[in-house]
Amino acid sequence: MSGCLLVPRGVLAEIGRHVTGQLPMESGGILLGRTVGRDRAALEFAALPSVAHACDRYQAAAGECVAAVYRAARTAQDIVATVHSHPSGEGAPSATDLLEAFGYRSCWHVIVSFAQGEAVFGVFEYHNDRTTRSYSRVSLEVV
Ligand SMILES: [Zn+2]
Repeated sequence: MSGCLLVPRGVLAEIGRHVTGQLPMESGGILLGRTVGRDRAALEFAALPSVAHACDRYQAAAGECVAAVYRAARTAQDIVATVHSHPSGEGAPSATDLLEAFGYRSCWHVIVSFAQGEAVFGVFEYHNDRTTRSYSRVSLEVV
């Protein structure tokens, strides 16, 4: 069973500002932090530019992504979650999200949906194997 993603209010606001500022393009980044038992505590948001430049597609630039992974290692943090927006889509993971996240078992996934007009945050854990793809919702706690 999943734990909880703990996100400081300031970090959540930073994510909101970033993905809102990129509208109507889809955007995202990663959350660095620590694993605490079953919970994960986000400490830092690294916005990563998208090479897709699309309203319905986000693909983090490889160079910036690698830099963020090194930064996590240097600062003894984990990549606790990926982040991406759904500028006009629903808040749930899309079929593409599940397909492309194959193998990403170690981190959770934050989706910021604007389907209701304002940013709505959802956190998901993907359960993918070779034949099935599914997800479950993870609690988000603002700290
Ligand atoms: Zn998506």
